[in-house]
Amino acid sequence: MSDFLKNGLARNYLAGRWVDGDNGASMPVEDPGLGEHLADAALAGDQSLAQALDSARATFERGDLADMNPHARSRLMMRVAAEIREIAKEGGDLLCRESGKSLEAAEDEFEEAAQYFEYYGGMADKIEGKSIPLGPDYADYTVYEPYGVSAQIVPWNFPVSIAARSLAPALAAGNSVVVKSPELDPIGIAMLGLALERADVPAGAVSILNGVGSDIGAKLVSSPKVDQIVFTGSVPTGQAILRAAAGPVIPSLMELGGKSAAIAFDDANLDTLMSSLQSGIFYNAGQVCSAMSRVLVHRSIYDQAVEQAAALADGLSVGHGLENPGLTPVISALQLSRVEEVTSTATQHGSRIAAGGSALDRNGYFMAATILADVDPGSRVAQEEIFGPVVCFTPFDTEDEAIAMANGTEFGLVAGVFTRDLARAHRTARKLRAGQVFVNEWFAGGISTPFGGVGKSGFGREKGLEALFNYVRTKNIAISLK
Ligand code: NAD
Repeated sequence: MSDFLKNGLARNYLAGRWVDGDNGASMPVEDPGLGEHLADAALAGDQSLAQALDSARATFERGDLADMNPHARSRLMMRVAAEIREIAKEGGDLLCRESGKSLEAAEDEFEEAAQYFEYYGGMADKIEGKSIPLGPDYADYTVYEPYGVSAQIVPWNFPVSIAARSLAPALAAGNSVVVKSPELDPIGIAMLGLALERADVPAGAVSILNGVGSDIGAKLVSSPKVDQIVFTGSVPTGQAILRAAAGPVIPSLMELGGKSAAIAFDDANLDTLMSSLQSGIFYNAGQVCSAMSRVLVHRSIYDQAVEQAAALADGLSVGHGLENPGLTPVISALQLSRVEEVTSTATQHGSRIAAGGSALDRNGYFMAATILADVDPGSRVAQEEIFGPVVCFTPFDTEDEAIAMANGTEFGLVAGVFTRDLARAHRTARKLRAGQVFVNEWFAGGISTPFGGVGKSGFGREKGLEALFNYVRTKNIAISLK
């Protein structure tokens, strides 16, 4: 099926070498579109982790990357981007099969990964400090220095693009990185190692290890050999990592979950809203941290919006990711049972199922595209991150009520406003408690727009110029000339 897999095994990329799991350990990887075994992935243990951390440290201390001429580092990042594009077809196919996402979406992840390396590669020689005037007797300036060893923990929903989102700025700034890939789909992300190797990134600068989160994930983030943690994943894991990081006081970046709301005012264009809904909650079967998981609609257009949304959900084609259908499976049997369980509580609190509502009777882990109407904003389905193709519709009467409902969860990742009234769009956007607000197009923006949460959605920003400064710290140098 793939040249990358050797005898059906995806190996770990350990400081420039491709290695089996510790003591030959491996774990099975499933194809969720079929509900069948796909391949195996090497399982890193203590030994691999120690080697990865030691190599990362040694590479950093030698300055292989950090002291490289910044222009040369920039060109290195561009070579990585080119190599990622070379593996995008094979990688996309494997990622599609292991994650369940559509082939198109899987190939897009590799393209996005390449773009991250180009974007941050272009900045590698522009990380400039400041000169601070202290009068004629002093010279004072700041420099931005890389942290050292960056530990990066990646979730399964967009493993390749999220890995690149953190890896590219970290390397562009001169850090070494140890990546812990997600257990459920570790193959596509391992292939990034191939691009790094072929581009001649210094061998010890990056390791990509597949391992169990509660084992080597936990050991990685509590290691005194780590200088920085970048975590993308769920709130409970983020909280556990913050507790672990508190001991050695390791600076951490937290990109956590969401329960993001779109507000559709009475003048909203419903076709625009529906096309945003399609990508907002059905792309990757709704397993998106910034999914449009709640839709608050002005009462005057509410019934029509629910009706159109139900028709959209019922009309989606369903199939294996390789067929590029409108609805793909969720990642695992466990995820499907979680999504079904939360969804099943909806009607107990007065919600109406306008479309879907349960798993589909077919091979693989498919949840029906689900529209829940008349959802009580305080109920479990409206408060918890479901992480599946399930959206909650609730009517509102006034602008203030809509904003209060949108802001009424513990999360605050993104939000959306649908209106033709520009003044109302600006006013509402200012009041929404979220790291990013989309107006008239869910997921507007891209790799150059800062992204991150407030509240339990986390802190720090990824993407954009701003994110680069998560991967450096400021040093001030004050010189007396007297
Ligand atoms: P998860 O928290 O279960 O796992 C994420 C990663 O953490 C995995 O690699 C896992 O192995 C590892 N891990 C688990 N326990 C650990 C521990 N004690 N120490 C260190 N690492 C540990 O999340 P998931 O189910 O893989 O991903 C889905 C979640 O990620 C959702 O909540 C989603 O909203 C969130 N997410 C957020 C963003 C963002 O940018 N804000 C992006 C994608 C996903």
